[in-house]
Amino acid sequence: MEKRNELYAGKAKSVYTTDDENLLVLSFRNDTSAFDGKKMARLERKGAVNNQFNAFIMEKLAEAGIPTHFEKLLSAEEALVKRLDMFPIECVVRNISAGSICRRLGVEEGLDLNPPTYELFLKNDALGDPMINESVAHSFGWATPEQMEEMRALTLKVNDVLKALFLAGNMLLVDYKLEFGVFDGKIYLGDEFSPDGCRLWDKDTRESLDKDRFRKGLGDVVEGYEEVGRRLGMTFKYD
Ligand code: 5GP
Repeated sequence: MEKRNELYAGKAKSVYTTDDENLLVLSFRNDTSAFDGKKMARLERKGAVNNQFNAFIMEKLAEAGIPTHFEKLLSAEEALVKRLDMFPIECVVRNISAGSICRRLGVEEGLDLNPPTYELFLKNDALGDPMINESVAHSFGWATPEQMEEMRALTLKVNDVLKALFLAGNMLLVDYKLEFGVFDGKIYLGDEFSPDGCRLWDKDTRESLDKDRFRKGLGDVVEGYEEVGRRLGMTFKYD
């Protein structure tokens, strides 16, 4: 496999074409951002940590029968993935109230949500990723009702797998965001799963070990991500 041209540069990852039209290279950079790109920084080791963390999680999800775009790790910061046709939709599950739901509904942080909430947002930084629903996605042709139902089922299945995985490391999976796409007519989990796109709290102290450390200016951001990996039995490699 040969890496070719940069197809797209996101806020934290760059995507490259390869000599195989069905495969892409994801390159995880040290860049980080919050508040739809309004707060930006570079954090040493973050690209490597997120790439290897994502590979670890994608493999766990594949073992649990969830179709993912992940093919293999290529290096500390790069991974090979299937080229999906992505839905412009973010699927968010919350087990505990935090973040935007507290602002939107005026509820306090830290409430157990049982059953977990399932929300949809349009992936559009310029609009601040506005909340949508299945009807809106259907009317605008972003996804069919059948596709939305499958994304919902897969997102909730991910919750069962990952809540248990993190709990074994004495962590609470507070919430997370997933993105999906289509390859060969089938829905796959795409993008990434890392502490950039989820909230993880220490079960006893409720200390944040995720991107909230960056959003709230708490410091030790990548150290928090490495602590999550360590608790899951991972060891990270750096170039
Ligand atoms: P909230 O709606 O509270 O801002 O986010 C809910 C969860 O989804 C959090 O774990 C957050 O990290 C994740 N999330 C929501 N939108 C985005 C996004 O645009 N990018 C990333 N990386 N994560 C997001």
